[in-house]
Amino acid sequence: MKTKIRKITINASKNYDVLIGNGLLNNLGEIFKERFSCKKIAVITDDIVDNLYGKKVVNSLKEKGFIISKFVFPNGEKSKNIETYTQILRFLAKEQISRTDLIVALGGGVVGDITGFSASTFNRGVPYVQIPTTLLSQIDSSVGGKTAIDLEEGKNLVGSFYQPALVLCDIDTLSTLSQKEFNCGMGESAKYAILDSKIFELINSDFDLLDLVYLCIDYKRQIVEQDEFEKGNRKLLNLGHTLAHGIEKLSGYSVLHGNAVAKGLKLILLASKKHGFIDQQTFNSCIETLKKCVGENTDIDCEHDIRSLIEVAMLDKKRDGDFINLVMVKGVGNCTVEKVNVDKLTEYFL
Ligand code: NAD
Repeated sequence: MKTKIRKITINASKNYDVLIGNGLLNNLGEIFKERFSCKKIAVITDDIVDNLYGKKVVNSLKEKGFIISKFVFPNGEKSKNIETYTQILRFLAKEQISRTDLIVALGGGVVGDITGFSASTFNRGVPYVQIPTTLLSQIDSSVGGKTAIDLEEGKNLVGSFYQPALVLCDIDTLSTLSQKEFNCGMGESAKYAILDSKIFELINSDFDLLDLVYLCIDYKRQIVEQDEFEKGNRKLLNLGHTLAHGIEKLSGYSVLHGNAVAKGLKLILLASKKHGFIDQQTFNSCIETLKKCVGENTDIDCEHDIRSLIEVAMLDKKRDGDFINLVMVKGVGNCTVEKVNVDKLTEYFL
């Protein structure tokens, strides 16, 4: 059965397609055969995704004659580290993956980030395909070429900009997500809703997931095409993230990324109101949308002292000497980057 596929082409340093649709995994071998002439494909995934989709992916690719190897690591942010990175590199070396072969990242943002970083550094760069299987990774992390691993000192401290060769978002994979993981992705979509009024309207209607994924990726496309290497406008995508990274780290990564983003967004909305960027009405409608995204039962209040979050923010790679770039909200679809002196950061929020 042919499925309806929507396509977005990203015109960055490398041009690539993002395919969004239902049932894409069923036609994976066919899609790859049409686009890639490599012999070998190394699939990198985590244990949960492997159990759910590993066989389907491997079989579909094998049927079309590709030689497949697979590396599986334990799921979760705790695996996005230098040890797993080394294991992946050694696996790729053992499998003799060359620059004319292909690497596939099958999973959520953790798999996508660490696989992308491995692909960008192994053999000085092997092409890779993102097959994101969480809402968060479909709407955000799989597109735009940011790759990373964490250090004990902080999140995403080591990484590269390395665009994939293709991104495949199979909406059907989202049906197996737990409610918690789904809400986590919706936390990230709240960021897009505040950045873009079209997405704000969609989320406040009876919407289809495929449309949400499509609109978020299309918004990210515009930003990445303008500013691939985050010298300017791409900083807007960090809305809510500077503090979210602190929340994740201080919780020992027990607070999921998208939930931390929701908490970070609330803190930014409060500060935006405090500094007169937004009025009470805009604040209220943004908070309502935020709650609608993550679900009434998800706590969007931050349990950490702002000073400890700021201490973590000092290590943030978005720090610019004595300044931190904070994305503030001036309205729905109207955000701005404010350079705040690190000495003034605490009073900025309190
Ligand atoms: P994740 O990759 O840890 O996935 C969350 C959980 O869902 C995992 O346990 C995973 O095994 C499971 N899972 C994945 N797909 C599933 C499915 N279809 N059904 C059931 N379970 C499934 O986390 P995430 O939320 O996808 O991504 C978070 C990561 O993304 C963070 O490390 C964050 O820093 C990164 N990120 C990167 C960018 C970027 O631009 N590179 C942007 C945003 C976030």
